[in-house]
Amino acid sequence: MPSGPGGSPGEGLRPHCAVERCRWCERDDLPCRFCSGTGRWSPQRPGVDANGAIEWTRVEEQCRMCAGTGREHSPLTDPPDPAPSAHSPGEL
Ligand SMILES: [Zn+2]
Ligand SMILES: [Zn+2]
Repeated sequence: MPSGPGGSPGEGLRPHCAVERCRWCERDDLPCRFCSGTGRWSPQRPGVDANGAIEWTRVEEQCRMCAGTGREHSPLTDPPDPAPSAHSPGEL
């Protein structure tokens, strides 16, 4: 039995999203939390069958949250800035 595509992370990932010089694509330490860094996700789409009942169909598509890059693009909290800010907080 030949081993088909296992869908291992890193396979089929886009190197960059549509944003030029995207600061999220520059990072490699934050995997997309929606697709776990695979760049693909399998959401369920609602549909209506012949009887008018809602049925859910599982589809696989490119992760929209990271544009298929597998990198986090909208974290709940801002990641720490690589460059320290020059501000001195607490000084009035
Ligand atoms: Zn990006
Ligand atoms: Zn993603």
